[in-house]
Amino acid sequence: MLKTIAGFDRIGEENAFAVLARANQLAAEGRDIINLGIGQPDFRTPDHIVEAAIKALRDGHHGYTPATGIPDLREAVARRTLATTGVEVSPDNVMIMPGGKVTMFAAILMFGEPGADILYPDPGFPIYRSMIEFTGARPVPVPIREENGFAFSAEETLSLLTPATRLLIVNSPANPTGGVTPRAEIEKLVAGLDAWPDVAIMSDEIYDQMTYDGAEHVSLLEFPAIRNRLILLNGWSKTWAMTGWRMGWSIWPSGAENGALYDKVRKLAVNAWSCVNAPAQYAGIAAIDGPQDAATDMIAAFDRRRAVVTDLLNALPDVSCVTPKGAFYAFPNIAATGWKAKALASALLEDAGVALIGGPDFGVHGEGYIRVSYANSEENIRKAMERVSDFLERRAAA
Ligand code: PLP
Repeated sequence: MLKTIAGFDRIGEENAFAVLARANQLAAEGRDIINLGIGQPDFRTPDHIVEAAIKALRDGHHGYTPATGIPDLREAVARRTLATTGVEVSPDNVMIMPGGKVTMFAAILMFGEPGADILYPDPGFPIYRSMIEFTGARPVPVPIREENGFAFSAEETLSLLTPATRLLIVNSPANPTGGVTPRAEIEKLVAGLDAWPDVAIMSDEIYDQMTYDGAEHVSLLEFPAIRNRLILLNGWSKTWAMTGWRMGWSIWPSGAENGALYDKVRKLAVNAWSCVNAPAQYAGIAAIDGPQDAATDMIAAFDRRRAVVTDLLNALPDVSCVTPKGAFYAFPNIAATGWKAKALASALLEDAGVALIGGPDFGVHGEGYIRVSYANSEENIRKAMERVSDFLERRAAA
C-alpha cells in the first residue's frame, strides 16, 4: 500500500469541470445541452494574439525563458498595471505564471501549514479552500452576502482575523457571484489591516476589466499601507479569452523585510515548471500592447447579456437575482423554489438540458443559489431560461 502525504486526502476539485464533463457526455449522446456552467469566455482569442505566438515559434522562441518570465513581458505587465490602476510597479516584482490559478497555489503553499488560519471568500473560487486544506491550515470562510450585493464586508472580514491568521484572500469582481466590492469597503478593510501587520493579503483581480453599470474596480495595489504584504493575482484568461493558454501574472513584494516572497515564488517556479510556455509569453505581450477592441467588444457583449439574463432570472417563479456588477456570472437565489441548489442544478442538466453550477460547489454559504455563467450567446441564454422556466413550472420541489 503506497502512502501519500495527508494533504492529498483533503485536496478538492472544481465541480465546474465535472459538470462540463457530464454536459459533454449528454451532448455526445445526442442531447441538446446549453452550457451556462462554464467559467470561460465563449470568444476566440483575438487573431493578433494568436499570430504573435505563431511568429514567436517561427522566430525560434521555443526554449526556456527566465523562470520569472521574459523581461519584455514583465515590463508590459508593469505598464498595464500603471495604466489600469495608476500604480507604478517594478517589472522586478512581476512574476509570469502558468495561469491565474498558480498564483493562489503558490501563495497558499507559502503561508498554509497546521496551526495557521487562512481567510477566504465563501461562496468563492473553490480552489482557495481546497488548497488551504491541502496545506493543513484552517480554512476560515468569510461569508459573502446577497444583502451586500455580494460585496465582501470589511467589518465581517476583520472580525475573523486572529493571531493565527497568516493570509487573507479577497476577490473582486468575484466568481461565482459577480459581486464588486466598493471603494469605501476596501478602504475600511485596508485601514483595519493596520492592526494586523503580520497578515499577508492575496487579492484575486482576474476579472478586473469586467465591471458594469459604472461599478469601479478598486485594486488593492492602490493602498501603499499594504503593498509590502500584498500578492496581486491577475492574468490573461478572462480579459483576452485565453483560458487554455495558461497565462497568468502576479505581483509580489520583494526584499528580505517582506519575506522575500518574490524570490520564493521564483524558486518554486524553478522547481516546478521552469518557465511558462515561451510562445504563449510572446502572445501575452501582444495581448497587452496590441489593439484592445476585441476585448472591449467582448466585455460589451457580456454587459448586454447580463441585462438579459438578470431580467429573465427575475421573471422565473420563486427566483430572485441581484444584478451582478462584474465578471460574467449571475448568482440567483433559488431558495424559495424549495429545491436544494445542487439537486436543482443536476435536475436542470438531466431533465432540461441546461448546465449550471449549484452554489454549494463554491462553499457552504452558496446553498440556496446557483451560478449562471453568461459566457454563451444571447440566443442560448434566452432558450436556456425558457427551459428553466418550463422546468420550474412543471416540477414541484423534489
Ligand atoms: N480566480 C478566479 C476568481 C477565477 O474565477 C479563475 C478561473 O475561473 C481563476 C482565478 C483562474 O484562472 P486561470 O484559468 O487563469 O488559472
